[in-house]
Amino acid sequence: MAFLKVVALEKALEVIDSFPLKPAVEDVPLEESLGRVLAGNVLSPVDVPPFDRATVDGYALRAEDTFMASESEPVKLKVIDEVNAGDTPDFELNPGESVYISTGAPLPKGADAVIQFEDVEREGNEVILSKPAYPGLGVMKAGTDIPKGELLLRGGTRLGFKETALLSAVGFSEVPVFRKPRVAVISTGSELVLPGEELKPGRIYDINGRAITDAIREIGGEALFLGIARDDRESLKALIERGVECCDIVVLSGGASGGIRDLTSSIIKELGEVKVHGIAIQPGKPTIIGLINGKPVFGLPGYPTSCLTNFTLLVAPLLRRLLGRESETRNVRKKLTHKVFSVKGRRQFLPVRIEGAKAVPILKGSGAVTSFIDADGFIEIPENVEILEAGEEVEVTFFG
Ligand code: AMP
Ligand code: MG
Repeated sequence: MAFLKVVALEKALEVIDSFPLKPAVEDVPLEESLGRVLAGNVLSPVDVPPFDRATVDGYALRAEDTFMASESEPVKLKVIDEVNAGDTPDFELNPGESVYISTGAPLPKGADAVIQFEDVEREGNEVILSKPAYPGLGVMKAGTDIPKGELLLRGGTRLGFKETALLSAVGFSEVPVFRKPRVAVISTGSELVLPGEELKPGRIYDINGRAITDAIREIGGEALFLGIARDDRESLKALIERGVECCDIVVLSGGASGGIRDLTSSIIKELGEVKVHGIAIQPGKPTIIGLINGKPVFGLPGYPTSCLTNFTLLVAPLLRRLLGRESETRNVRKKLTHKVFSVKGRRQFLPVRIEGAKAVPILKGSGAVTSFIDADGFIEIPENVEILEAGEEVEVTFFG
């Protein structure tokens, strides 16, 4: 049995910060970029629209030809041709001429206005105007929507459908985004079985494997659940080795204390280095932070609420940093509904449920899976605080 050498949470976070992991960039096809984070600023490589185009169906003309048009003295223009969307007119309008043009078609040279067909009369190959047009009427000039070279999106922007539409509008087929960190997830414990397997006496279903895997995916990482390791050296060592081989980060749960069947720290030590074993927080004291072949390996506590609290405190920020999503922290301030007690000298993280402007403490203890299922997040009760009063304002950190 090994006693834990407990460090402050800040120290643990410093250790993680010092790990040799950098955000990496990859180009992905535009159609796969939804939800990803842009790795750099994007400038428009083109004018949008790329040419002066008609915004209505009607007649393209030279506005100055129509300045004298009135009800009593209409102006007649000759309709010399027709231009449709997708055409490339190669002629020039002379004074007194017009062309029929459809919405989205390029204006021919010489034309500077489009009057919509509802506002004119057509007689044979002539169009009759009883009011003037002005330059720019019915026209969207090249580059007035988006000028070439304009800053479209800043690095760090998370791509939603509006952003992918904008990238499509300027013709990007590939987008530079932060690469998703690959994270191996391992559950440890001889008592664990997977949903779908037989629940023999003494066994429980795995919770952490599913929770961690999907929390990683929610943050935007790529998670690979490697399965359950029995509490025997060979089984656990094999899975950790596989995780280090296939992934950038390995996250284990269970077996992180100093008990005789808690093998995780000694295997990490054998394969690499244990940087932290024990953090001065409650729950979640028995947590391991190690490094194997330059890859961070986390051993989180087995109790699901402790596990997910520490995942949120330690692993999630690292993933967000690698994904360029550091700014997306989701803390909110709420008023506590009930008085809660903590032990002096213990830095505690207490699950809470959010109800409107209020935070309801959940006091089932970290051994209950429903503690974190019912909770939206947790609040911190500092070491020197023993009581938080009902009505006191608290800061809630969301799980995951
Ligand atoms: P350990 O940290 O391995 O001593 O586990 C502490 C408690 O958490 C024990 O009751 C375990 O059965 C439970 N536990 C460990 N891992 C999991 C898991 N993946 N899913 C659900 N409960 C777990
Ligand atoms: Mg265990």
